[in-house]
Amino acid sequence: MVQQFFAVMNPLLSLLLAGAFATLALRWTSQRHLGLISVAFALTSIAFWATAYGIGPNADFSRYVANVGFFSAVTLACVCTIMRAGLRVPVPMYIVLVALTVAGFAWFEVVMPSTLGRIYVMAIGFNAISLVTLVHLRRKPNWALADYMIAAAVCFGMLLSIVRPILAHLHVLDIGAEGTFLQSTYWATVVAFTPILSVGVGFVFLAAIALDIYEQVKTEANHDYLTGLLNRRGFETLVESDLTTAKKPALLIADIDDFKKVNDTYGHQTGDAVIRHVAEILAHHGQALYAARIGGEEFALYYSDMERPPLRAIADDIRLALAQSDGSGPPVEKMVTLSIGLHWRDTGEGLAQMLHRADQALYRAKRAGKDRVENSAIQLHSIRPQARA
Ligand code: GH3
Ligand code: MG
Ligand code: MG
Repeated sequence: MVQQFFAVMNPLLSLLLAGAFATLALRWTSQRHLGLISVAFALTSIAFWATAYGIGPNADFSRYVANVGFFSAVTLACVCTIMRAGLRVPVPMYIVLVALTVAGFAWFEVVMPSTLGRIYVMAIGFNAISLVTLVHLRRKPNWALADYMIAAAVCFGMLLSIVRPILAHLHVLDIGAEGTFLQSTYWATVVAFTPILSVGVGFVFLAAIALDIYEQVKTEANHDYLTGLLNRRGFETLVESDLTTAKKPALLIADIDDFKKVNDTYGHQTGDAVIRHVAEILAHHGQALYAARIGGEEFALYYSDMERPPLRAIADDIRLALAQSDGSGPPVEKMVTLSIGLHWRDTGEGLAQMLHRADQALYRAKRAGKDRVENSAIQLHSIRPQARA
């Protein structure tokens, strides 16, 4: 009765997961690995069906279908894991490993029939493919929770496939005589654990998708779509958290001069290109901990520990880089200039006050004729104690 229940449930659950991933793949076309996961679960479903009900002319054929189905599903799942991480898939390596496994399986099927031989070949093949996947995955920068979950699932699968042949070798699990493998305790553990593993992998991938979407939404909410820099909200969140431990925090605020004229003369699209161009220069020459576009054509750079002379030098470097643009940017780049305001935190100031003081310095730069750098005024109350001393 229980066996019959699983015989129906296993292919059905895999088919449901295949459908779920196919639906997600159609909706989220940028994530190309989702379609492959769907195929992997469709193959798992066929393999489960072959195991429970048989497919084709005889039991041997069903066994081949089950082996090919499960093994291709595992290989595809590994490929998806690499794709999801945004890494290059080592296709030749996978092809070689699959070919060697198939050759080994065929050897112990035809040339030297041995159930134990086939078991070892499949276990070694599975582990080699999983190991290659894990080694590649290690190259992914910034591991998120989803990456650890997927790596743990791969390790769990490897553990299962290592432990089983060892137990068979130690005769804890019997593999039956040739031809009675399907009645052995070994096969019983395969039948018991494979569904747990495959459904587990399905849920790990689903959880990874949910976490990936969450990370993407969070990143988009804190970044400016035009320049890729932080937006005001992202900038404020990060800077406020850094200010609690920062040594000598400083701000640089830059505003494009006479930008309205660029828009009016060359159109909004060229205006956008100028904004992107300025953002790139600020990101490359600003040396800031955080760089943001905080208004239409206004940018802010934040430093956690910055003295006056080096920040002044950075501001000059930014203006020089803009003046010396090599012509690869928008057609008006040569006439684009920046006004810049600098401010170093005075004791007790929060971000809002720092931004206000940097803004005042920027305003003075504008009033003095634009295309220049101004420091914020030193507040008298902050130098009075020193003057007395
Ligand atoms: P000033 O030198 O005093 O800074 O003058 P300005 O013309 O640069 O400044 P103003 O604040 O008068 O105008 C800024 C313009 O920036 C007005 C607005 O239409 C334009 N702007 C704001 N956001 C965008 C954007 O995303 N793309 C484009 N193309 N223009 C934008
Ligand atoms: Mg401006
Ligand atoms: Mg402005």
